[in-house]
Amino acid sequence: MSKLKLWNQHANWEAAEQAWDAQAQSAAERQPNKGLKVLPNMPGMTEETARFFKWKAFKWIIAKDHGFKVLKKAMRHPFRYGWNYFKSLFRQKSYLRDGDFFLYGISSVEEFHALMADPSHVFVVGFSYCHKPFECPSGRFTDQCVHDAANPVCQQCFIGKAVHALPERVIPVFIPTVHYIGNKIFELMEANPGREVIFIITACEMTLEMFGDWGNMVGIKGIGVRLAGRICNTMKAFELSEEGIKPGLTVVTDETQRRILDLIKLSWE
Ligand code: SF4
Repeated sequence: MSKLKLWNQHANWEAAEQAWDAQAQSAAERQPNKGLKVLPNMPGMTEETARFFKWKAFKWIIAKDHGFKVLKKAMRHPFRYGWNYFKSLFRQKSYLRDGDFFLYGISSVEEFHALMADPSHVFVVGFSYCHKPFECPSGRFTDQCVHDAANPVCQQCFIGKAVHALPERVIPVFIPTVHYIGNKIFELMEANPGREVIFIITACEMTLEMFGDWGNMVGIKGIGVRLAGRICNTMKAFELSEEGIKPGLTVVTDETQRRILDLIKLSWE
């Protein structure tokens, strides 16, 4: 298994990306990943799902917070977090939108460039499990990713490409559930006192809508990347997905992949 990041083996970004794309194409010709040509996009959330949405998000966080792990951490700063949550709750949207990018705590993608350029920030890039390939060697509903550059499944996987392209200072996270990423963010904040956590995280639009207030509550800044393909668009589908029952595959569109890679490229500079 080749764990060495492929980007480190090339003289520059362009050469590394060219090498990755060439091996991806060759792997797809020999042994294409199932679902590589994805089924049509699911429509967005139903009207019924969108009703009392913030209340549904609150209920979900509390009901599934086993051992009250997230809540206990949130209670360490009850006034600050309470006030932030309250402010976010009463805004019409918890984010600003720029295409597939949902911006939290920032007003533009350019503002995020400046945050990325500051090495004192803890920079997290998270990937929802629902766009892992069906044949993922680490399993889909897990927080693992071997990103094996010699494995034809990983060679065709956008997550594999992005992880190989990330500079060492960036922390990749593979996200099975909302509570997993919530805990992970709290852990990183506690392990890095005085440092700001910034993020790029892929997720369904429904999740980005539902849990933006919680990100704003702790004051982290970053970009939620909207997934396409077989997304969750009802509460039932979301609840099943949080238990690992996700028969469909989501995707990051080609255009949005490019936007993410361009951001990662900037983080090398
Ligand atoms: S790169 Fe990671 S997520 Fe993608 S197939 Fe390989 S192990 Fe799975």
